[in-house]
Amino acid sequence: MSKVYDLHSHTRASDGEFSPSQLVAHAAAQGVDVLALTDHDTTDGLAEAATEAQARGLTLVPGVEVSVTWMKATVHIVGLGVDAGNTELQTGLAGLREFREWRGGEIARRLEKAGIPGALAGAQAYANGRILSRTHFAHFLVAQGHASTVRDVFKRFLVNNKPGHVPGAWAELEQAVQWITAAGGQAVVAHPARYKYTGAKLRRLLGEFLDVGGVAMEVVSGSHSKDDVMNMGNHCRNLGLLASVGSDFHGPSNPWCGLGRVAPLPGGCVPIWSQWSFES
Ligand code: AMP
Ligand code: MN
Ligand code: MN
Ligand code: MN
Repeated sequence: MSKVYDLHSHTRASDGEFSPSQLVAHAAAQGVDVLALTDHDTTDGLAEAATEAQARGLTLVPGVEVSVTWMKATVHIVGLGVDAGNTELQTGLAGLREFREWRGGEIARRLEKAGIPGALAGAQAYANGRILSRTHFAHFLVAQGHASTVRDVFKRFLVNNKPGHVPGAWAELEQAVQWITAAGGQAVVAHPARYKYTGAKLRRLLGEFLDVGGVAMEVVSGSHSKDDVMNMGNHCRNLGLLASVGSDFHGPSNPWCGLGRVAPLPGGCVPIWSQWSFES
């Protein structure tokens, strides 16, 4: 029987809505056999998730989603099978979290200039002492009536040329892959269709990624359309990358798809898990 894999998900350790235990319980209820927890720039949720996964007989792949700046825009690189005790990885992630803290203040200053005071405290209340994400600002802005949905907030306030936008200054692509690899993990380009690149630019990203030691890309992502999946499947096969599958689940009010509700990989794509030891 083939297993259900979902290799991209979030908890309250970053911008997800569930605790790590709740996420794993939900995954089990959704019939997921192998779940990767990949919070943004932190591995804080992994220990709790692993305990819950063991209790439920589900395989937990320890992961992280690293924020990267590539050609002046943000790209996400997922690390799968990372050792959270690795110093190089943790030092790298700590630097990203420092930038996040500064950026949070800067987003709030810009929103205040645009006539929206109190956004830092507001977002921090949603983050609850954990990683401060644009998602937390979005929840605050929705609660304040500045927009009706999280998606709407992003469009109107938090992206390029909008009042609360602050350009990213994240890791370099090579650094992110290096941290993941040093921690014994495999580096995966997250949700490649979301970058809205031309074919040529995407090939450039994937080529550079391969050159610095990256091994896989998400062909199936919760945010990919059917056409995106076909298209990404072609890039994946052509470049000889391994293929990954993940919902990018953040919680019940998730903008993408449900946990474990992922499409099958297109034919000819080699799944990243085909080389994992528990498969044999
Ligand atoms: P950050 O890493 O703090 O810049 O926040 C990025 C996160 O914001 C992503 O991981 C998504 O969870 C969320 N996000 C980005 N764009 C959108 C969008 N258009 N609608 C809803 N959530 C989004
Ligand atoms: Mn997120
Ligand atoms: Mn992402
Ligand atoms: Mn994600």
